[in-house]
Order: sequence, then structure tokens, then C-alpha cells
Amino acid sequence: MIADLNYSNLVNPLLRYLHVLLLITVAVGCSSPPTVHTQELYVFGTLVSISAYTSDKVAFEEAVDAVDASFQRMHRDWHAWKGEGELVQLNRAIAAGDTRVVDPFLLPLIEQAKMLSGKSMGLFNPAIGRLIALWGFHSDELQVGTPPSRDEIEALLQYGPEMTDLVIDGGQVSSHNRQVSIDLGAYAKGVALELAIKQLAAHGITHAIVNAGGDLCVAGRRGERPWRIGIRHPQGRGVIAGMEVEDGECLLTSGNYERYREYQQVRYAHIIDPRSGYPVEHIASATVVARDGGLADAAATALSVAGPSQWLEVSRNMGLKQVMLVDEKGRIYLTPEMEQRVMFQEKPDEIIIGRP
Ligand code: ADP
Ligand code: MG
Repeated sequence: MIADLNYSNLVNPLLRYLHVLLLITVAVGCSSPPTVHTQELYVFGTLVSISAYTSDKVAFEEAVDAVDASFQRMHRDWHAWKGEGELVQLNRAIAAGDTRVVDPFLLPLIEQAKMLSGKSMGLFNPAIGRLIALWGFHSDELQVGTPPSRDEIEALLQYGPEMTDLVIDGGQVSSHNRQVSIDLGAYAKGVALELAIKQLAAHGITHAIVNAGGDLCVAGRRGERPWRIGIRHPQGRGVIAGMEVEDGECLLTSGNYERYREYQQVRYAHIIDPRSGYPVEHIASATVVARDGGLADAAATALSVAGPSQWLEVSRNMGLKQVMLVDEKGRIYLTPEMEQRVMFQEKPDEIIIGRP
């Protein structure tokens, strides 16, 4: 009995102390209600905005630092023509007819891009790096003056660089065709955005949006409601439509308004039709919503090449459900699933619904 008393005498103050400590911890943890925090990073030549709905500002800032470090590594190792990263070295090995052991940070992208290129019927073709360079898009400054001649284009096209030329054997990559030069510009941003969302989640940030100039992936919600985003107008007139994006979704848009060179009032867009070797003309923009960011990015580029005549075929092949195309006349092409979701700023003159 006495022992019991002694025991409780000892334990009670301790419990009380722990209680107070717990209350202080809880009070500090909840000191700020959840709200939207935003930070901006400059990577891949664009501003990337990262927003999170959280009460833990410190965790958010740490998470953004981690994402920034990953983005820098991606920029180094996934870039087709800048610096001395993995992809630059792989392209050099291919040109020399050598086999290269490719870093595991890059290798899955090569494998996936090869697979996606096949599904896109070759319209997404990251093997045409030389053609892209010939058009002057392997430069931060856009080219001026006369575009490349038909002869120069034909000279590259005749080699028919394809992702199927690559031989991927374990971690080793070689190519049957030394004219292959891999450019992941149409695909890597989608992969990067999806990875950023995963990295934020690993830091406890589970409600977030990572937005690179309108290309984005989201996690969770913005508090009581989903994240709301705008799809850019292809003619540079602000936003064409709004949409609520759900947990785990990515939205990628590709368009010939993005980057182009101009000569004698003709615009040459940075999206090249691998069949003709010329920039696409017919399409203004293609938007894809999918859970796989890399797929959405590659698909948006492939659909820009496909245009209104082939968009359904390419969508079907790539397993896409949510697609929107805007052509040069402002006509809108939508899959039924996409039609359910987009909210137009102004009612479009013509909407064409197509089922892949
Ligand atoms: P953005 O980078 O503006 O989001 P895209 O995703 O469409 O647009 O990527 C365009 C880039 O992809 C070009 O700058 C070029 O490097 C590369 N590219 C151009 N045409 C093709 C193509 N048909 N297949 C694969 N990559 C391409
Ligand atoms: Mg793309």
C-alpha cells in the first residue's frame, strides 16, 4: 500500500509534466491553420511554381529545396545539348558508334520514351535531335534568317532516326543508327513534374501543385476544394478554359505558340513532324490530362503533330481518355471525358467531340 502511494506520488507529477509538454507541442504544431504556400524555382528555362496547402511551412520549404536539387540534376542529365550530362554523353557515344553504360537516373526515360514513341506511331520521336538542331531549336537564342533548305532536311530524314534503332541491354545503350540523337524536350518535363509531386509527398506535403508555365501535376486538394487551373489560350489571349484537377493528375499542353522562329511572316514552330522534317502548321495546341506526367507530355507533342485528322487514332494508341485540341481556326476538339471537365472562358464557336 505504501509502495503504491509512493509510486503514484512519483508518477503523477511526471504525467502532468508530460501532459503540459504534449499540449505545448500540439499548440505549436497547430499555431497556423493550413493555408496555401508558394515558392518559385527557375529551371528548364521556365519558372516553376510550387504551391502547397499545408500548415507546416518548414516542411514545405525543405521539400521545395529537395525538389530544386532534383530539378538541377534533371537539367544536367536529361538535357540533350547543354553541358556534359548523361544524355549529352550518350548522344556522343551514339554518334561515335559506341555503347554506353547509362546512369539509372536517365535510363528509364530512354526506355519509356522508346515505348511511347512506338505507341504514338512515331509522331513523338525523340530520336530526331539532329533535325531539331537543324531548325535552330538547340539554342537558347532563337534563330533568325532563312530556315534550313529542303536539301538539308532531306539529308537528315533519309537516315530515318527512330527510337527502335536503340538497343537497350541492361544498363547499356547503343544504336544501329548513328544519326540518332535523343532529345527528351517533349517528354522530360512531364516526368519531372510527376517526380516533384512524389518528392513533396515524401516530405509530408500531400496537397500540392507543381506548375511549369501551365504544364502541371497535382496532389490532394486546396483545402475544401480541388486545385483549379487555367489552360492557356494558344493565341496568347490569356486562359482558354479552366478546370479542376484531381489528386494524382497531370495536365500538359503543347503548342506551336510556345517557341518558334519567324521568317517572312511565316512561323516555324518548335514541334517537328518527323515524317516531313518540317514544323507542324495545322495545330495550335494539344492538351492531355493523365496520371502519368511523361505520357501526358509525350502525347501532347504527338497530338500536335497528329492534328485533327489523326488525333483520335493517336489518342487510342496511347490510351488517352482526356484530350483537347485547338486548331489554327480556333475550333475545339474534345474527348467526351474532357468535355465533362473543361469550363470555357468564352463559348467556342465550334466544338467537335471525338471518341478515341
Ligand atoms: P514544350 O516544351 O513547349 O512544353 P513540347 O512538350 O511539345 O513543348 O516539346 C517540344 C520540344 O520537343 C521541342 O523543343 C523539341 O526539342 C522536341 N520535339 C519537337 N518535335 C518533336 C517530335 N515530333 N517528337 C519528339 N520531340 C520533339
Ligand atoms: Mg510534350
